[in-house]
Amino acid sequence: MNSSTGIPRPQLQSLDDILPQEPLLMMGAGPVPIPERVAKANSVVINHLGTTMAKVIDQVKSMARYVFQTESKWVLGVAGPASAAMEMTAVNLLQPGEKILCLNNGFFSHRMAEMAGRVGADVHELHIPVHEAADPDRVRKAIEQVRPKVISMVQGETSNTVCNYTLKDIAAIAKEYGCLVVVDAVCTLSTMPLKMDEWNVDVVITGGQKGLSSIPGVSLVAFSNEAWQAIENRTSPLTHWCFDVKLAENFWHRDGYHYTAPVSGIMALHEALKLVCEETLEQRFARHLRCSQALQAGIAGMGLDLFIEPTARLNSVVGISIPEGLTAKQICDHISETYRVEIAGSFGQPIVRIGQMGEQCREHNLFRTLHAFGSTMRDLGVKVDQPNGMAEMEAYLQKYPRHVHLDVA
Ligand SMILES: *Cc1c(COP(=O)(O)O)cnc(C)c1O
Repeated sequence: MNSSTGIPRPQLQSLDDILPQEPLLMMGAGPVPIPERVAKANSVVINHLGTTMAKVIDQVKSMARYVFQTESKWVLGVAGPASAAMEMTAVNLLQPGEKILCLNNGFFSHRMAEMAGRVGADVHELHIPVHEAADPDRVRKAIEQVRPKVISMVQGETSNTVCNYTLKDIAAIAKEYGCLVVVDAVCTLSTMPLKMDEWNVDVVITGGQKGLSSIPGVSLVAFSNEAWQAIENRTSPLTHWCFDVKLAENFWHRDGYHYTAPVSGIMALHEALKLVCEETLEQRFARHLRCSQALQAGIAGMGLDLFIEPTARLNSVVGISIPEGLTAKQICDHISETYRVEIAGSFGQPIVRIGQMGEQCREHNLFRTLHAFGSTMRDLGVKVDQPNGMAEMEAYLQKYPRHVHLDVA
């Protein structure tokens, strides 16, 4: 029999057999659809060292500084998910025994605590009620008790769709106590205001596949001078090699070698950042706000409940309470199979989630998604007023202009 070659060749199946015939519209909590220019750039491979790559890296950094709203030199890319940028932050900033206060809004903001624990840091978590944003007074009290070196928080907690709109105030308080402020802006960067320098944020973490509408797998992180100095001041050796920011600096700031950079992913990120810069942050924020709120008006107009009250509601990812008798899986499977629209379940909350990040915030995507969602509800036996929902969404869009008019001083 088949003795000469050892392990036999597997049965082969083409991607065409596996992938859906008609691509799904990606309206979940990420990855999100990518623009054609990003997809095209993602097919490019060049030498990861040398002058061409150096030019690309230079532009990525300067465009990223605009998106992060920082003048800090210390912008770095990471080969890996947003969690890799988070891990890079945790392992470089914290030494064993050092204190971190993690504001825990849920699944994602807890991750920093998990990573800090593995580093051997002294981890304290402030648990924030599921439907609420972090309360600055409670944070101040916790800081006074713990006196942490680092405080970490999420701008938008994707898992329960809460927005920590108190971020700026909390960062100001943390600074009074000399803390380094780490912000997870994975689902929010370029979808809503975040001013790293002006708000005294020391580290901003993001991924590619959400607000930036790039591919998953290449992420960005920015450190303030103060955070960089804290890393310089480390006395204990770093256990990680890939995530060592001083080694990463060699590639991102000295045109040198660390590991082979994810060239194609960086090309994609370059194009994604360029699209943000061309659109301008102001217009991009306005587009996200308008589209997300129109979608919310449509969902409410059908008679369904949004999970979070307006004050603390995240716009980047919209959480909808699951009607009684249904499960997230039933809804997500049905809308995907029947209408070719992909939405997300959740981690621990009784909701389904529709993303409003980057390319998801286009009017044509909104109408297809809301129609698919309302139809799914009807198919599954939920009484919804779908025509009214569609009309409410259209009315909202008509009421608010597509572009913000900026005063030219
Ligand atoms: C998606 C997300 C993450 C994790 O990103 P990965 O790329 O999956 O590692 C972390 N934080 C927030 C707020 C997110 O939305």
